[in-house]
Parts: sequence; structure tokens; C-alpha cells
Amino acid sequence: MVSHSPASPPSRAAILEILDSVKDPEVPVLSVRELGIVRDVEVDDAGAVTVTVTPTYSGCPAIQAIEDDILAALATAGVADARVVTSYAPAWTTDWIEADARAKLKAYGIAPPRPAEHGGLVQLLRARTAPPCPYCDSRDTEIRSEFGPTACKSVCWCRSCGQPFEEFKAF
Ligand SMILES: [Zn+2]
Repeated sequence: MVSHSPASPPSRAAILEILDSVKDPEVPVLSVRELGIVRDVEVDDAGAVTVTVTPTYSGCPAIQAIEDDILAALATAGVADARVVTSYAPAWTTDWIEADARAKLKAYGIAPPRPAEHGGLVQLLRARTAPPCPYCDSRDTEIRSEFGPTACKSVCWCRSCGQPFEEFKAF
């Protein structure tokens, strides 16, 4: 955990490091930074911190929890003067998830999102081919349900290794 003396304003780098400890409630293997939810961090001359976040999709129920978690992590690290603002434009896309974060998803047993075809929510409802299995890389897979435990993931099944797995849908 990063901490700093209240006498000196926190650096932007220190804030980003703190945000790395905040995991996404729906994808706990990734931090809110790795998921691309944190769009900007500003520290003004008085040391007041503003974190700009973009929810993974409009109306995402997790966004309030994410804001609370960010503020709690900053407070724990001694950054009391902080606020979180939400920005909806540009809309978040799974393309903002970096390569190393995709590898973490796969290692966790979640098929990472494929490149987004920008069609907004319509994309969630369209018939799609199943993603490769994150466990054995087989393409002999099927989508069992378009909506898993959370709306942004589908439930898939691998015919090769018999593992059910989730796919982080691209949008
Ligand atoms: Zn498999």
C-alpha cells in the first residue's frame, strides 16, 4: 500500500499505483486501471485528487461500488481530498483492455473480449460464434447463455476439455 505525508500533495504516479489495488467487482482479477475504467487522474496544486472513470457500459450497476472502492483505497493511503467523476463520452470499449490484462483474464478462466465491432448494445444481442476455450485453446466451444452472472459476460462450454467458462463480451 502506498502512503504519503499529508504535508505534500500526492503525485499522479502515486495515485495510479493506489488505483492498481482497486479490483473491478465484476472481474476481480483486474484492477480498475487494467480494465480501462480509470480514464484520468488529476492532482491540483492544493493536493485535491480528481479521478475520472468511465463505466464499462451505460447503467453498469457496479459503477457506484467502483467509486466507493476508489475513494476507500485513496483514504486508506492517506489521500482524503479526493473525488470521483463519471464520464460517459467516449463510451468505454473492451478494446481499452490492455494485452497483459487480457492474459490475466485468460489465466483466470475468462475468455478475453475479441476486437469490438462497434454497435453498442445491439452487439450484445446478436448471434455470435463462441470464443476459444481459455483453458485448452480449443475452438470446439459453444455459448450456453448470452448472459452470465453479470450482463457483460456470457457463459460458454468447451466440448474438448469439458470446462464451462465465461467470455468477456466485446463491445
Ligand atoms: Zn477447453
